[in-house]
Amino acid sequence: MRRQDREITDRERLNELILACDCCRLGIACENGPYIVPLNFGYEEMEGHGVFYFHCAKEGRKLALLRANPHVGFELDTNHKVIAADQACGYSFLYSSVIGCGVITVVGETTAKKTALTKIMEHCSSRHDWAFTNTEAQSVTILRLDVTELTGKEHR
Ligand SMILES: Cc1cc2nc3c(=O)[nH]c(=O)nc-3n(C[C@H](O)[C@H](O)[C@H](O)COP(=O)(O)OP(=O)(O)OC[C@H]3O[C@@H](n4cnc5c(N)ncnc54)[C@H](O)[C@@H]3O)c2cc1C
Repeated sequence: MRRQDREITDRERLNELILACDCCRLGIACENGPYIVPLNFGYEEMEGHGVFYFHCAKEGRKLALLRANPHVGFELDTNHKVIAADQACGYSFLYSSVIGCGVITVVGETTAKKTALTKIMEHCSSRHDWAFTNTEAQSVTILRLDVTELTGKEHR
């Protein structure tokens, strides 16, 4: 990273930032350039790497593209603030952001889908007492993203 003074290397801080975001932008390979899709998510650290969970409908463009190529990039950001100045060149912008890549798999097993849905709901709501029926779990597609590369940058 060119601005090493802004790089976040602490794993705990990276995880904290991810959990502070409400939207993960997935960059999916497509013939004409990346297809970027914003998604809500659940997140946890598992066996030394980050794991995102997403839920979506059973069909659509992103699923079709992911079947062809499950390798994705992603980005999340938060802590936005404009720093105003008298001159345009004096303006600045504060942020915290995370960029990475990884591999998507479709979660098929019902208990694993319920666990992923709970993670998503915990992240969206801060509640932990969610329960899902088999029918509810089976009515959605659950995507799991195993992170292979992760960097963070912060201007505060
Ligand atoms: C903050 C945020 C959070 C979201 N969270 C979720 C989530 O958790 N789960 C979920 O399934 N969806 C979520 N969405 C909607 C998501 O971005 C997609 O619209 C949805 O997943 C359908 O994707 P698809 O590839 O199947 O699109 P399709 O329905 O197949 O649509 C195909 C075309 O529609 C256009 N399109 C699709 N989505 C969008 C979009 N968001 N904005 C503009 N154009 C679009 C694209 O040009 C695309 O080529 C969220 C959107 C936002 C903004």
